[in-house]
Amino acid sequence: MRGMRRPGLSLVLRVLMAAAALAALAACAPGFQRNPLADDVKISPNVSARRVSLVVIHHTSSSSHESALRTLRDPLREVSAHYLIARDGRLIQLVDEADRAWHAGRARWGAITDVNSASIGIELDNNGDEPFPAAQMAALYRLLDDLRARHRLTPLAYVGHADVAPGRKVDPSAHFPWREMALRGFGLWCDPPLAAAPAGFDVALGLQALGYELASPDAAAMAFALHYGAPQAGLAALDPALVACLVAQARAVTEP
Ligand SMILES: [Zn+2]
Repeated sequence: MRGMRRPGLSLVLRVLMAAAALAALAACAPGFQRNPLADDVKISPNVSARRVSLVVIHHTSSSSHESALRTLRDPLREVSAHYLIARDGRLIQLVDEADRAWHAGRARWGAITDVNSASIGIELDNNGDEPFPAAQMAALYRLLDDLRARHRLTPLAYVGHADVAPGRKVDPSAHFPWREMALRGFGLWCDPPLAAAPAGFDVALGLQALGYELASPDAAAMAFALHYGAPQAGLAALDPALVACLVAQARAVTEP
C-alpha cells in the first residue's frame, strides 16, 4: 500500500540504491563479471590475477608486421598473440594479458595441456629465414624483463612454439638467440665442456623432464635440437651429456 501511495519516491530510492550498489561493485572490482546463477555477490579483496606460467615465442613467417597484423586480427583466421614485435623494435599489443590469446594451437609443455590458457604469446615479425635484428631483440628483452617482474617467472618459463608443438611447428627459427636469452635468465643453456651424463641416463625421459611431450620422441628431439643448437637428426643423435646438464639446471631452479 505504501508503494502505491508514493510510487515516485520508491522508484527513485530503488534507482539510487541500485546505482550505489553498482558504484560499490565497480570500485571494488573493475570488470567484475557476475554469474547470473549467483544469488548474491559478496566481493572478497583477497585475490590476484591468475598465474601466467609460460611465455611462448613465435616468428610470424611474414615479410612485414603490417601483414602479420592483418592475420593476427582477422576473425576468419582465428589466430592472435598478446604481443607483436616489428623488425624495428616497435611493440604492438593485441590482447589483454588477462585474456587467452590463440597462438599455441594444439600444444603441451610438461603438465600443461592448455598452453594458451597458461601463457603469454609473443610474435616476432620475421620470415623464418633471417636473423632477428638487434632493435627487435632489445624490445623483446625489455618486454620479457617486464613480464618476469609482474608474473614472477622463473628461467623455466620461456619456450618456443616448436618446443610446445614438436613435429608441428618450427618457430622461432634457428636464428633465434636462445643462448643469449638464457644468459639474461630467460631459459636454460649449457656450454661445453659438458660432464658425462650419469650412468643409465635416459635421454627421452630427460626431454620429458624438461617439458617436451614424448608422443613422438624423434619430434621432441628435433624441437630440442632446434632450441639448443644440436644436430637435428632424431633422438639417437642427441648428446646425453647436454640433456642431462639441462635437466640438472632445471632441477636447480625448481629445487634450489
Ligand atoms: Zn608460432
